[in-house]
Amino acid sequence: MAEIDTTYDSENIFAKILRGEIPCNKVYEDDHALAFHDINPQAPVHVLVIPKGSYVSNADFTANAPDAAIVGFMRAVGHVARILDLDAPGYRILANHGVDSGQEVPHYHVHVFGGRSLGPMLKTSD
Ligand code: 5GP
Repeated sequence: MAEIDTTYDSENIFAKILRGEIPCNKVYEDDHALAFHDINPQAPVHVLVIPKGSYVSNADFTANAPDAAIVGFMRAVGHVARILDLDAPGYRILANHGVDSGQEVPHYHVHVFGGRSLGPMLKTSD
């Protein structure tokens, strides 16, 4: 089994947002998570939820974060969708991990999409 890459670049853009060095359009914040609007939205509602800890990816977060951080983060994702009034119409959550997914920012994050019918889950061809 391959080792999980936990090499964290503390100069990544979300680390800078967490430190307040770069502004964001904040939706929600608690002890475990920060949520803000994506700078390049792919749907009428496109919000990113990031854990406060320094985790590179879904693999790193789920393997190495304390239970309380994982529970707190997942509750925050649900809370953000409710704040955005997405529970009734529906929404999609998505996390990219690694090269095949096209993950751009190496700080774990969950996308929350909504505001319209979101279509098929994946592109069926290139
Ligand atoms: P990924 O491809 O890593 O899953 O998604 C990264 C997301 O971060 C992209 O949707 C991109 O638009 C967003 N993003 C990149 N830089 C910034 C930024 O400086 N501010 C905000 N709010 N979003 C960003």
